[in-house]
Amino acid sequence: MSDKFDVAIVGAGPAGSAAALTLAREGLSVVVFERGEFPGAKNMFGGVLYTTILNKLVPNFWEEAPVERQIVKRRFGLLSEKSEAAFEFRCEDYNAAPPYNQSFSALRARFDPWLAKKAEEAGALIIPETVVDDLIWEGDKVCGVKARREGGDILADVVIAADGVNSFLAKKAGLRKEFKWNVLAVAAKEVIGLPREVIEDRFGLEGDEGVAMEFFADSVAGMVGGGFIYTNKETLSVGIACSIDAFIGKKIVPNDLLERFKKHPSIRRLIRKGETLEYSGHMIPEGGFNQVPQILTDGLLLAGDAAHLVNASLYHEGTNLAMASGLYAAEAIIEAKKKGDFSKQGLKSYQEKLECSFVMKDLKKYQKVEAWAHANPKFFTEYPDLLLDLIKDYFTISEKPKQTIQENLYKKFRTHLSPLRAMIEINKLRKTFL
Ligand SMILES: Cc1cc2nc3c(=O)[nH]c(=O)nc-3n(C[C@H](O)[C@H](O)[C@H](O)COP(=O)(O)OP(=O)(O)OC[C@H]3O[C@@H](n4cnc5c(N)ncnc54)[C@H](O)[C@@H]3O)c2cc1C
Repeated sequence: MSDKFDVAIVGAGPAGSAAALTLAREGLSVVVFERGEFPGAKNMFGGVLYTTILNKLVPNFWEEAPVERQIVKRRFGLLSEKSEAAFEFRCEDYNAAPPYNQSFSALRARFDPWLAKKAEEAGALIIPETVVDDLIWEGDKVCGVKARREGGDILADVVIAADGVNSFLAKKAGLRKEFKWNVLAVAAKEVIGLPREVIEDRFGLEGDEGVAMEFFADSVAGMVGGGFIYTNKETLSVGIACSIDAFIGKKIVPNDLLERFKKHPSIRRLIRKGETLEYSGHMIPEGGFNQVPQILTDGLLLAGDAAHLVNASLYHEGTNLAMASGLYAAEAIIEAKKKGDFSKQGLKSYQEKLECSFVMKDLKKYQKVEAWAHANPKFFTEYPDLLLDLIKDYFTISEKPKQTIQENLYKKFRTHLSPLRAMIEINKLRKTFL
């Protein structure tokens, strides 16, 4: 193996492989180190793969990529202990091929190896089962990595740290600080096997259609976060994700919260008779815009979760941002190579590309969501309970005249929430999400 490359990439997740593919196609020499037995072996997500960038990297990817189902239906449910109110949207147009619909369910143990293989076919060298422990420095410039292998000191003009949420390389380079617990979420997920026909009948799907379902409030014991079910071809991805400080405050561990979620009357019917095939846990960087660290320095770029590029509003969009940042990082390096300048100045178009794109624009738009969620616990406990209680009263048939029922509903509502308070809360929501 040559011990000097144009680019060394740490991590073969969506960010690292997107960068490797783009660089290798331009003829740059690229090495990718992945600590897993194979790319994707250690990776998990919810997961809906958002694919606007993937479609640029591999046009018509859906004809060959191991995606599961095309998401044609989205559902957001609000749970109390015994009730559920949901908003569901289904659109026949979403059955059309991308670019119309860009959302697919996927399993990372299948998707990540496929994308890494694309990079390999383009000429990148992918080295699995290899942890990178440190960066190599020449003065203030990063000029390589120390991989945990014999002869593992590898020199490169530029290093891309695509090593995920816990990026030790970003920390070693002094680009990010210690985390606070409220900017990270922890997720627990099971992949539950069910026959294909059962999934389609139970979730109202045909062929390769899929649904993405998210559940809030009692789904996660009123904590900041939510539960999810995403349909795959012959499995369901079922999980919960909440901020770490919520777990600490509630003194509950992720696995117990997942078991609780699976037992809720609205959930247990959907997963009935399923067989748990896999269990996994992972962290999500949910701090958004305000937590994005310095993303470049001389000879080093951060991409994907390593740069905290996750839109954790209602979209839970991380994969698309990861692939976008991998692509932009690669483009910036290609430009820097033409100038022969791999300094921070020479690589600065990476920052500009991110800022001009949906990546930073979306993170900026939703920058208040995390703080709002932590400052307004009533939206995860009291208000959903009240709303579901009122809906229950409204639909409960009795011999009381409907006029009386409605007057009682209004009285109950006012006892818990004055009209002024309701207006203030709605205004807060508007300012946070719109
Ligand atoms: C529970 C959960 C649900 C999610 N749901 C969604 C969703 O539905 N839709 C969506 O778009 N996003 C979702 N996300 C976010 C999404 O998964 C991430 O944003 C995305 O995977 C980031 O990609 P990445 O390549 O930056 O990092 P990762 O996918 O984390 O890849 C990092 C890679 O680096 C490797 N690595 C780490 N350290 C080293 C080292 N020192 N040496 C060598 N290799 C190393 C790891 O093994 C890994 O392969 C979810 C995340 C979680 C945890």
